[in-house]
Amino acid sequence: MDFDLTDEQRSFQTLVREFAEEVVAPAAAGYDEREEFPLEVVKRMGELGLFGIPFPEEYGGQGGDLVTFCLCLEEIARWDSSVAITLEAAVGLAANPIYRFGTEEQKRRWLEPMARGEALGAFALTEPGGGSDARAIRTTARLDGDEWVIDGTKAFITNSGTPITSAILVAAVDAGIGEGAVTTIVVPSGTPGLTVGAAYRKIGWRASDTHEVSFDRCRVSADHLLGERGRGYAQFLEALADGRVAIGALSVGLARGCLEESVKYASQRQAFGKPIGAFEALQFKIADMKVAVETARLAVLNAAWRRDRGKPFATEASVAKLYASEVATTCAREAVQVHGAYGYVEEFPVARFYRDAKVLEIGEGTNEIQRLLIARALGLPGTEL
Ligand SMILES: Cc1cc2nc3c(=O)[nH]c(=O)nc-3n(C[C@H](O)[C@H](O)[C@H](O)COP(=O)(O)OP(=O)(O)OC[C@H]3O[C@@H](n4cnc5c(N)ncnc54)[C@H](O)[C@@H]3O)c2cc1C
Repeated sequence: MDFDLTDEQRSFQTLVREFAEEVVAPAAAGYDEREEFPLEVVKRMGELGLFGIPFPEEYGGQGGDLVTFCLCLEEIARWDSSVAITLEAAVGLAANPIYRFGTEEQKRRWLEPMARGEALGAFALTEPGGGSDARAIRTTARLDGDEWVIDGTKAFITNSGTPITSAILVAAVDAGIGEGAVTTIVVPSGTPGLTVGAAYRKIGWRASDTHEVSFDRCRVSADHLLGERGRGYAQFLEALADGRVAIGALSVGLARGCLEESVKYASQRQAFGKPIGAFEALQFKIADMKVAVETARLAVLNAAWRRDRGKPFATEASVAKLYASEVATTCAREAVQVHGAYGYVEEFPVARFYRDAKVLEIGEGTNEIQRLLIARALGLPGTEL
């Protein structure tokens, strides 16, 4: 097997590593503390072309692949998971379905500005009544003449209320074509009947934009249908498989941040007349973090590599998301431990990493759901959802 990156992948990685160190890292703690959406950083990422990595140049993209996107996410999440999830959700959950399922006109209208980072999209699947049980969606879309009428409420929607959000992709029950059929409708920001609620007060990802979104007889013209009617469930399963690999990459970045900060701190902090890194207990803790980061990255890049080659990758995506997110929470917990009391206050970044890590086990399919999907792929009985 060839584990080498291509020249293009390596040059993106270097570009984003430098950008993350110079622009993302110094601003991260401030945005987190103010719970402020990092608009200026997002604009700079747009200029660098990061929002267009996996899309063709004809739609304003970079013609890259999922491996490249994962490498970039890792570099950003090394310093700031809020910025990384903003990028991941915009590209993976919103722009990606428009690219895959949209008409030429929809791609020109929505994908192009998203790929250039001038506009952000959101994807609304989860509802207040539940996220894992996606078949229990209650939001409805009804075709009335040549307009869709949408009613319902969505919960925890990333990027739904930023100053540059252009559209929300809504998964809704399409009553017109049979029970349980889900259809995806693109609802532009500012459409009458669409209300973006107050931002959630989260324990982590505090600079990422997350709102409840409600639709009250919200009308858009018929050409806002994304892909085929009734195919919404299949569409978001596809988008979420890519998304899981990307969440894995974000997890690797956070875990690497914990590792690097721990090495730095353990080399400086003194106890009993020597650096704490001279104690075997901490050496082994940090060595275990290194093992976990390396193996999680392999799992993520394996899933991305398979996806880029058109091979089946859904189970590998679940494995990568599950493993890497648990590596992230473990590394964050251990990094705080290495920092002692200083890890428990906001003076060092590991406190923020600790708060940011937990959601990686929840978003884009909880880890219980990943285990269920993996068990199902193994053919175990009773794993139907
Ligand atoms: C910061 C943040 C951003 C988010 N962004 C988005 C977004 O942009 N778009 C979007 O649509 N959603 C988004 N979500 C929602 C996220 O995808 C859901 O939270 C997730 O899918 C879980 O759904 P839930 O929270 O309703 O938990 P529930 O489905 O209520 O689950 C609660 C618990 O029960 C477990 N559980 C449920 N069913 C089973 C089962 N069959 N077997 C075993 N265990 C089970 C779960 O694993 C979990 O531990 C976001 C969430 C957060 C926190």
